[in-house]
Formats: sequence, structure tokens, C-alpha cells
Amino acid sequence: ASRLIYKTGIVVIGAGQAGLSSAYHLKNMGLQQGRDFIVFDESPNPGGAWQYRWPSLTLSTVNGIHDLPGMSFADTVSDQFAPEVHANVAVPRYFECYEKTFELSVYRPVKVKVVCERDERLRVETDKGFFSAQGIINATGTWDKPYIPNYPGAERFKGGQLHTRDYKEAEDFRGKHVLIVGGGISAIQLLDEISQITKTTWVTRRPPEFNEGPFDAERGREAVAMVEDRVRRGLPANSVVSVTGLPVTPTIIAMRKRGVLNRQPMFSEITETGVRWEDGHSLDVDIILWCTGFRGSLDHLMPLMIKEPSGGIMMDGRLATRVAKDHRIHLVGYGPSASTIGANRAGRAAAQELTRYLGIK
Ligand code: FAD
Repeated sequence: ASRLIYKTGIVVIGAGQAGLSSAYHLKNMGLQQGRDFIVFDESPNPGGAWQYRWPSLTLSTVNGIHDLPGMSFADTVSDQFAPEVHANVAVPRYFECYEKTFELSVYRPVKVKVVCERDERLRVETDKGFFSAQGIINATGTWDKPYIPNYPGAERFKGGQLHTRDYKEAEDFRGKHVLIVGGGISAIQLLDEISQITKTTWVTRRPPEFNEGPFDAERGREAVAMVEDRVRRGLPANSVVSVTGLPVTPTIIAMRKRGVLNRQPMFSEITETGVRWEDGHSLDVDIILWCTGFRGSLDHLMPLMIKEPSGGIMMDGRLATRVAKDHRIHLVGYGPSASTIGANRAGRAAAQELTRYLGIK
């Protein structure tokens, strides 16, 4: 059966920080919504992945949320700019105001299922219809791709296993022994909360690197440059925190005092009742909480064959947002731009480079 296919210039996939920044710049450059570009998001509401973050993540416990271009977060949600306000409430409200203020039309919920090559254009297949585009700005984040490493015996474990993504509140674990796996910021945050009400054990692959000095802009830039270098070489992007180490915050100092930062090395297998290390000693636990991060949600782009044999995607362009193998595709909020500030800048660079490349205006 023939299908109606809508034509447009650029499809922006995702309306988190990266997608909204891209849309803002496309519109500011004089592009017309619908005809020249269109924005899809699979989530029911504004807010990107912030709408799904666990409730105890507050404006004081996030690392810092950078303003979207052209509108201040603090001014927009001034009554809510208190440290104890939940990020999953305040940020979606800010994004909603942002979309209204700049009249950015986001079509939601629309899930992009596949992007493929068709007649020298890109066919974007969604759950609401098919679109034919000249270019793509992909801004789908990582929330849909929780990563759990493979350890032998995982299927045998009789206790509960969950990922950071599934975490709601520490209360859910009262009276249980929780094994927390991972050395990133989320692992530390959840370990802090859960260890206040129940028994915890913390394991990480490598000894965690605590950064005692202040985390200044210079250190941030160095970290981003290292991730950028990896993606320019086509290597899988690692997270920015894996190269910055863990900043020593008052929370970490308090955790040290409570004795909960006593890190164990990674176990080698999972048993019915817990985990076992290489030297044969074992530990019984009730819950394994995998704080092992996320990967880019990019499955819908796989028909475009943009992956390198290493599993990474080689990127080029001014801020490394452009797929080296196919200049019609930009990835924003990916690799070096996987932060609120990085996503902002990436959106601008992608909008400028892609419209120039496609000759849209
Ligand atoms: P998202 O906010 O994830 O938005 C992606 C959007 O794409 C979503 O709305 C989703 O619905 C949509 N989408 C996904 N797939 C599809 C599809 N196939 N079709 C249609 N739509 C789709 N950064 C900071 O700077 N400071 C912090 O404090 C901080 N804390 C963080 C805490 C956690 C737990 C995590 C996971 C990340 C954190 N980050 C932080 C990183 C930061 O949230 C993101 O890098 C940044 O917000 C950029 O977001 P994004 O737009 O790339 O993705």
C-alpha cells in the first residue's frame, strides 16, 4: 500500500536540551517550522530525560544545569529555584516555558523508529507516519539505553537487580543489603542515600579517582577535549566523568566519615544469593543496583551504517557533532556534548553546519 510521505528539510529527533537548542538556532536562522525543519519527541511531556529522573535528585544534588540559549532558568522558574526542588519538576517546567516562549513546535509523543536511505534523502519512519528529510539532527540522549555489563550467573540471582534508571527512593531498600556497582556520580549519590537507611556494599571496576581540587572550568574543558578526541578517532564515547574523576563534595566528605566509601574490587561472578570474587570469597546480598551508566540511544540510526568496527562513530565538524561518514547527520548531546552546556553549544554548531551543507535557508 502506498504511504503518504511528508517532506521536510531537517528532522530534529528528541527535544531535550540538545534538541531544543538545535531547534532554537534553526528557527533563529530564519528556517520555517514544518517546511524546513520539524522536531519529534517520543516522551509525553516537555523536559527531555529530566522528567524521568529519580525524585531525590534536586537542584542542589545535580551537577549544575546550564541555561538553554536565550532564556534563564533561574528567572523562568524563580519561585522554584530553591535547592530542595526536584529536578524532575523544575527542569520540565523550564523546558515547557521555553518551547512556548520561542514558539517551538515539538510533535509528541512521536517515536522515531528507523532512519534509512531512500532516493538520496533520509526516510524517517515514526510511529505516526513517514517523513523524507535532507538531514537529521539526532538528539535522543541516553536514557533509553541503560548499560549493564555481563557477569556470569546474572540469571541465577534470586534477589532483585535494577539499574540507576529504575531507582525511585532509598526507602524501597529498607532492611535489605544492597550491592551498588559503579564508580560514577550516580553511584555515589545513590550509595549516599541508601547507606543512610540500610546496609550497603560498594564495588567498582577501577579504584575511584577522587579529585580533591576545585572542579573549575579549565578541568571541565580538559575532560571534554579528551572525549572529543576519542570520537574524532571513531572510538566509542566514554562519559565525561570517567575522565574527570569524582569531585570531592561535602557529601563525599560526610560519606567518608560514615565509612560507607569503603570500595571493594569488582566481583567475578553472580551466584544465587549474591556475588563471588576471583579469590573464592563471596557475599550474600538482596539487591544488585547497577549504576553502570548509559549508552547513546542510536539504534534507530543503525540502518545508515555509521558505526566503525570499534563500535564507535567517527565524528568531525567544528564541535565534533557531524558524522564523518555522512555529513547529513549530526549527533548532539552525544560524546563531548553529553552535558547541558555541551548540548547547548552542539545544537548551535549542528544547526549552522547542517543548514550550510544542505543549502537550506
Ligand atoms: P535527553 O534529555 O535525554 O533528551 C532526549 C530526548 O529524546 C527525550 O526527550 C526523549 O524522549 C527523546 N527521544 C529519545 N529517543 C527518541 C526517538 N527514537 N524518537 C523520538 N524521540 C526520542 N548534565 C549536566 O550538565 N548537569 C547535571 O547535573 C547532569 N545530571 C545528570 C544526571 C543523570 C542521572 C543523567 C543520566 C545525566 C545527567 N546529565 C547532567 C547529562 C544531561 O542530562 C544530558 O547530557 C543533557 O541534558 C543533554 O540532554 P539531551 O538533550 O542529549 O538528552
